[in-house]
Amino acid sequence: MAIQWFPGHMNVTKKAIIERIKDIDVVIELLDARLPGSSANPMLAQLTGHRPKLKVLNKQDLADPERTAAWLAHYNAQSETQAIGLDASETSPAQRLIKACRELAPHRGGMVKPLRVLICGIPNVGKSTLLNTLVGKKAAKTGDEAGITRIEQRINLADDVYLFDTPGMLWPKITVEKSGYHLAASGAVGRNAYDEEEVALELLASLKGPYPHLLATRYKLDDVAAIPALHDEVLLTEIGRKRGAVMSGGRVNLTKAAEIVLNDFRSAILGRITLETPEEFMRWWAAGEALEAERQKKKLLRSAKGKARQALLDDTAED
Ligand code: GDP
Repeated sequence: MAIQWFPGHMNVTKKAIIERIKDIDVVIELLDARLPGSSANPMLAQLTGHRPKLKVLNKQDLADPERTAAWLAHYNAQSETQAIGLDASETSPAQRLIKACRELAPHRGGMVKPLRVLICGIPNVGKSTLLNTLVGKKAAKTGDEAGITRIEQRINLADDVYLFDTPGMLWPKITVEKSGYHLAASGAVGRNAYDEEEVALELLASLKGPYPHLLATRYKLDDVAAIPALHDEVLLTEIGRKRGAVMSGGRVNLTKAAEIVLNDFRSAILGRITLETPEEFMRWWAAGEALEAERQKKKLLRSAKGKARQALLDDTAED
């Protein structure tokens, strides 16, 4: 079963973003560097339209550096787009953000035409942490009230660079089945929306191909070369056995094993991992879109058939 996750208030956020975006020059989209494609909300692209974008691959300390480089190149090749990697260990990220935003909107700047930036990101992507760093650093540096305080969700990054926080919550929108599992594995989806064992199995399915050595090291699995071909359940069972998640009678407690795998991934005890490459994600996305188009077609067909049947019934009743 795919992850079902329909949190409320998305329409409120949508309206608020539409209202706010009118006065915005650059949109910063915070993404989780471990799942850049899945942690993007496709609705945001529609709402922000042609505005230049700065994609920030956040939590890069948890992600695979090689794959982060691939994602940065992927985004940097897009028009009106720049991408940078970031994590909470960077104590002064403001200058890099300001530089990128100024390059994206060179026509803005100065007190008459300040550069107005909107920062967006799905929950758990690290937005509060980043905003706190931005506010705290500036306060510590200047020791002065002007331009420091967050006025109505606004931070003055520089005298002529205003950063606005997204009004409302930008929830992830799960259009791709695999994305649902990656979001759940990363911790971005509410705990009640998924089954841990199912998510752990999907996580192992994404890990065993590119990262068999990390699994072998952490769980003391002997045959690294055999890992990619292992059935996910066999792998989870083996991990449970190695980590002592065994019930009386010797059966492996798969729920416990799933918890172990998810915790090890989330805390990066397993190692620095990125669950998807740009090419993979684009493939899933295209498949998801095709499926959605098919669903819409069937829905239209059903509704047209229903209407025709009703018309026939109405005709018969009139006769
Ligand atoms: P928000 O929901 O987007 O505001 O996310 P938070 O700022 O509350 O961060 C969610 C979790 O991610 C917290 O446990 C943070 O400590 C952690 N976090 C935020 N930024 C980073 C980062 O760059 N690296 C790592 N490893 N963890 C981070």
